[in-house]
Amino acid sequence: MTSTKVVWFLTGSQHLYGPETLKQVANNANEIVNGLKNEGNFIANIVFKPVVTDPEMITKVCIEANADADCIGIIAWMHTFSPAKMWIGGLSRLKKPLLHLHTQFNAEIPWSSIDMDFMNLNQSAHGDREFGFIMSRMRINRKVVVGHWKSESVRSKIGNWIRVALGWDEMQHLKVARIGDNMREVAVTEGDKVEAQIKFGFSVNGFDSSDVTKHVEAADPSSVKALIEEYESQYVLADSLKAGGSQRFALEDAARIEIGLKKFLDDGGFKAFTDTFENLGIFKQLPGLAVQRLMAAGYGFGGEGDWKTAAMVRTMKVMAQGLEGGTSFMEDYTYHFTSAKSLVLGAHMLEICPSIASGKPSCEIHPLGIGGKADPVRLVFDSPAGPGLNASLVDMGNRFRLIVNTVDAVDPVEKLPKLPVARVLWDPHPNLDVAATAWILAGGAHHTVYSQALTTEFMEDFADIAGIELLVIDQDTKIRSFKDLIHANEVYYK
Ligand code: MN
Repeated sequence: MTSTKVVWFLTGSQHLYGPETLKQVANNANEIVNGLKNEGNFIANIVFKPVVTDPEMITKVCIEANADADCIGIIAWMHTFSPAKMWIGGLSRLKKPLLHLHTQFNAEIPWSSIDMDFMNLNQSAHGDREFGFIMSRMRINRKVVVGHWKSESVRSKIGNWIRVALGWDEMQHLKVARIGDNMREVAVTEGDKVEAQIKFGFSVNGFDSSDVTKHVEAADPSSVKALIEEYESQYVLADSLKAGGSQRFALEDAARIEIGLKKFLDDGGFKAFTDTFENLGIFKQLPGLAVQRLMAAGYGFGGEGDWKTAAMVRTMKVMAQGLEGGTSFMEDYTYHFTSAKSLVLGAHMLEICPSIASGKPSCEIHPLGIGGKADPVRLVFDSPAGPGLNASLVDMGNRFRLIVNTVDAVDPVEKLPKLPVARVLWDPHPNLDVAATAWILAGGAHHTVYSQALTTEFMEDFADIAGIELLVIDQDTKIRSFKDLIHANEVYYK
């Protein structure tokens, strides 16, 4: 448990059954909540709420959930039948994400003892269908989880959804700072920031590079010294960056940039940011090391003014906290076409998060062809093999679209001794031909969030909560049906 936020557990019933049955309903629901809490290993706590039995109670608890800043979502379960017209008032007001848990207290039918009292109490098989109807009738997105509450699969689905609900909660008060504007003439990193705030909750505002560089210039020498000691302990420093090295001054500049950038972000309450090499003002070097380390500390980042990806990096890092595998800003950089298997080399000029590094990153300094600044310091590393995904949020003009492509990261085919950037090599599902065709047809960006911690399930839950279009490219993707899906969605979202 790392979050102080909570999920409310709502059990639906009705008065018809009498106080004895309702008492048993409450006891059983409490046992389920305690069981989930003790065994689920969830990132946020589940709180039992009194069983709701009439429209007034239901509406009241939904309004209270909206008003409670700590409540990130609701798990609803109908132990008995709970006539669903009673839920219309509450559900029409509810603003928090909802998971419909379709379970029952007992796992198996007690063949020798089952009687009508048992049947009167254990009705979720039909009670939850009544609840499902009203949510579908009201066109409410929700996650439906089916199975016995002690099963690993149910716990896993609930746990993942709670992580997504926490990410969604983060988005509701996320502030994204844009240092400079967009890279000139670039299309996909643009978009409707007002619509994004309406849809997702996060705000995006612009700042001048001088708003940051004043903090860079004010960096305290003792803080710079302490930060460089941290670099020395965490990374393998290139010779020229070591004490007495010919470019030690550049490492000191990089440390000052990190201190100033962090001060700017923290003073303004920003948990995500963008910068643009065309709008760097008096920055001495393009922030490479600083951006990489701030991402590793949990800040979202998007290059070249890409505020949508910056917001998604932050949100996905909140979802993924404590899980194995890192999450980073990423760009499809260059291809490895072969007749056997084609691969993608993902990288960026500098800004890849060391949360996806395998082994100790090396801290290096090399010239950069663009930006017209001094050589930037950066972390260089490879990333571990294993499953992952790339996610891209684009603005289609009338809606936001989330595109997800599952991948298998692979070990580098050969060493890359002359490539001075962090990188990942991956095999996109189902193969590069289909994956890139589908991605390009969908209008997916060259920028993505790459994660080895999250799976498609998380992104699907996120898209449902946000109420946005999701296109998944995975092992099952066929181009013709993918095209049909794009066309069908065009009508659905009209
Ligand atoms: Mn880029």
